[in-house]
Amino acid sequence: MARYIFVTGGVVSSLGKGLSSASLAYLLQSRGYKVRLRKLDPYLNVDPGTMSPFQHGEVFVTDDGAETDLDLGHYERFSGVLAKKSDNITTGKIYNDVLRKERKGKYLGKTVQVIPHITDRIKEFIKNDSSKEDFVICEIGGIVGDIESLPFVEAIRQFANDIGKKNVLFIHLTLVPYLKSSDEIKTKPTQHSVKELRSIGIQPDIIICRTERPIPLEHRKKISLFCNVHIKNVIETVDVKTIYEAPISFSKEKLDLQVLNYFNLRSKKVVNLNPWKRITKIILKTKKQINIAIIGKYVELKDAYKSIDEALTHGGIENKVKINLVRIDSEKLKKNEIKSKLKGISGILIPGGFGKRGTDGKIEAIKYARKNKIPFLGICYGMQMAIIEFARNVLNLKKATSTEFNKNGLPVIGLINEWNKDGKVIKGTDKELGGTMRLGSYEAKLKENSMIKKIYGKKMIEERHRHRYEVNINFRDRFEKKGMIFSGLSPDDILPEIIELKNHPWFIGVQFHPEFKSRPLSPHPLFSSFIKASKNYK
Ligand code: GLN
Repeated sequence: MARYIFVTGGVVSSLGKGLSSASLAYLLQSRGYKVRLRKLDPYLNVDPGTMSPFQHGEVFVTDDGAETDLDLGHYERFSGVLAKKSDNITTGKIYNDVLRKERKGKYLGKTVQVIPHITDRIKEFIKNDSSKEDFVICEIGGIVGDIESLPFVEAIRQFANDIGKKNVLFIHLTLVPYLKSSDEIKTKPTQHSVKELRSIGIQPDIIICRTERPIPLEHRKKISLFCNVHIKNVIETVDVKTIYEAPISFSKEKLDLQVLNYFNLRSKKVVNLNPWKRITKIILKTKKQINIAIIGKYVELKDAYKSIDEALTHGGIENKVKINLVRIDSEKLKKNEIKSKLKGISGILIPGGFGKRGTDGKIEAIKYARKNKIPFLGICYGMQMAIIEFARNVLNLKKATSTEFNKNGLPVIGLINEWNKDGKVIKGTDKELGGTMRLGSYEAKLKENSMIKKIYGKKMIEERHRHRYEVNINFRDRFEKKGMIFSGLSPDDILPEIIELKNHPWFIGVQFHPEFKSRPLSPHPLFSSFIKASKNYK
């Protein structure tokens, strides 16, 4: 049977629960154990798919087509374990399931209540679809004390009771602030947060203290005493210079060993930190910098393009160059400012997006990249915009547009309502927006002698999708005659997956999201190649 590790947070949000869980997963794997990571999110949306990135950051997509919290991206990048639909649930989905069951009369006349019906459904989720794992690490979104997360905390309390406390470990992540004015480290917020947790029946076994500076022994002793946790289980996590240092720093604090101790398990292997040491060294030592522009609607929020930022960094590690991300708001990018705003830029990336707002700026930037031979990577909406730009300015189809924002133009991008996957026809719609896009992993075949085939080094690839509209295959000949090649297609030859320009050093658009599959320890070839070309630009 799997052992369960629950990670809660206290004091403030954004302390790095996801990163701590992901690092712990790596360390336990490296010691020879099989790990699975899960996340419970306390909001009422059924999934984050319909939320603006401004609200919740990027939506991470899994191979099996779930639209999930971006922490699942951290999990995949650090542990290499592919996340699934069954690894992320929200309060909305839980209520949805319970209410659907109620409508079917499945509760046999009972009054349906938070306890036990909602908590039962949460416990069912925690246990679902796992058999061979040694550990399931389950992160609870939000912080302890929020009204929203209460049912989750109650459910994990019950869960420990149900399967036996010896099979369950509670980790609580808190903030230990440093006060400049009095030159002091404060443990009180941690004490209060643990008190809050205990008031709902959970005594943490390990406390991870996020801090700006190392916590002196006397303060650790204080936390240990007041929070009723063994001193060895008071783990500090001092701000790191790069997130890839996190597994190294948790290993120094023996987090993984304390977890194994708790469960009376031994390390099966010597932990291997060399890959993280290697990339941390490259990141900290690399001097050469290049500017990569990311032009989108959500640039103000750092987490909106999380996996893309990460994938670019991975490409930078591979090419030993530091990536200076220049975030440009596509809505504010006016035609006459393009040249000045893109001065000193070595590569342009247009990420995924939705709706009309900001498209003019993106199209102008693509035109600039095409004409000035600046390396360009268009992802999903970015590829669709590259198609529109080429149609309007090279093929002279001035009315070329996407039906997403103009129903009366020439639809070089159009709504596709069904597509093939594994021999089955899947139907999409734009009448209902939640979970109805082309989602998850699909195959594409790459054209002989294309740049993309050289980059991937193989003929068939699988990448993750999240879109409703597609490039209209009927225009292919016209595009190809003028030098824009459709170099990747769906296996049935219906859906254009990749485009590239013949007379350009590096201009590629992809209908999928390669960023979701890039890892710090194995950068995605497309991002490595893009950064290589950008490094060589001028
Ligand atoms: N809005 C576009 C579509 O639905 C692109 C989506 C995206 O970039 N992820 O097809």
